[in-house]
Amino acid sequence: MATITYNPAETLQEAEEQVFGKKPPVSTNAQKSEEEISQVASQQRGITEAQNQEAVSCGGSQKQVIGDSEQDLTTVSTNIQIISGEPYTENRPKTSAFGELPPSNKVRMPADFRARGNVFAHSLIVSRFELMNREWMQFANSLLRSGEKIVSVKKDETGNTQVDRVENIKISSCYRPGPSDSSWAYRWILNKNQHKAKLQGEANANPSQFVGIRSENEKVVDLSRSELHRRFKRRFKNTKPSTIADKEYLFDGYLIDRYGSKQRGRRFLAFISVHNSGLAFDVRSNGLISKKATTKYQKNTTLFKWMRENAHKYGFTPYKREPWHWELLPTRESYFSSIDYVQDKNYNVRVVEQGVLTGLSTSKRDEVLNKREDDIKQPQQYSFLKEFEKTSQGVA
Ligand SMILES: [Zn+2]
Repeated sequence: MATITYNPAETLQEAEEQVFGKKPPVSTNAQKSEEEISQVASQQRGITEAQNQEAVSCGGSQKQVIGDSEQDLTTVSTNIQIISGEPYTENRPKTSAFGELPPSNKVRMPADFRARGNVFAHSLIVSRFELMNREWMQFANSLLRSGEKIVSVKKDETGNTQVDRVENIKISSCYRPGPSDSSWAYRWILNKNQHKAKLQGEANANPSQFVGIRSENEKVVDLSRSELHRRFKRRFKNTKPSTIADKEYLFDGYLIDRYGSKQRGRRFLAFISVHNSGLAFDVRSNGLISKKATTKYQKNTTLFKWMRENAHKYGFTPYKREPWHWELLPTRESYFSSIDYVQDKNYNVRVVEQGVLTGLSTSKRDEVLNKREDDIKQPQQYSFLKEFEKTSQGVA
């Protein structure tokens, strides 16, 4: 495997040639100009809309709301290397480097691969997922033909079970709107008139939670004890919550109501998640499901063990705390243009990308590997993106 270094152009080209055997048609050279990137992006939008009827096109610009300011991500210069993938190694995309999924690149997962009606993903996920599924089904069916069983999880979730039927790898959730989007799942916290009904509804559905804000009969939510409501009244008497920081402040109040403390809440609910970029997906099939309680049994399933060995061949990397949650780290150019950085369907690659000015990486892993004095000394030069790290942690 190529060594990771951050030299521009020549080294980049060498690395690409090593992986692809040729230079890909869409150049991933460093320091592309703004015009070049937007040109490619708008051409691709036209293609996507014409060819993919399931593509959701709502217009949309490349501007992303990051922190409290709007930044134009097409002005960014980055160095990119594409190297070999590795089995079962985390390479988590930083939500701060990608932002909210652009509507023009949002596609509905094909019916065979989704566990619910509405599962939307970044378009780069789909072809990789289809290929992975084809090979999973081949593998699993050959197991069954040879008389072996598929290990799944018992219906009552008390252990593993062996079955003799296999199903596609299906996704229960991929893209989920983040706090900068108007359909964010927690947008009700921004409206104080909805607090009582929503908190009560959630308390009814989750009897073991919201303990601190229930009245004596333990059923009715007492709004005067709600930290969310208190925070709202304290800060938004005369103004409306609008910035990301405002939303996070209220969201943390909600976590305190629900879980007793912000720290505890962060283990269960993320304010910002890789799902907001449409680059993370949760599997629900063959025993995998987004439920912490059965993590141990999920790790014994045939599907999990197969993905642990094979998912990287399709570009997918794990989040090891959650066996159902997998991710893709594309180049940022491909993320915004939807033009794939892999042209020959050999998806067994890893993208290493770093801002030219800032030295910041698009993955949490590279950030750790490359922590250098210089990076720490010049934190204000972000043409790339402001760090949003502290809010991008948590259950994804
Ligand atoms: Zn997830």
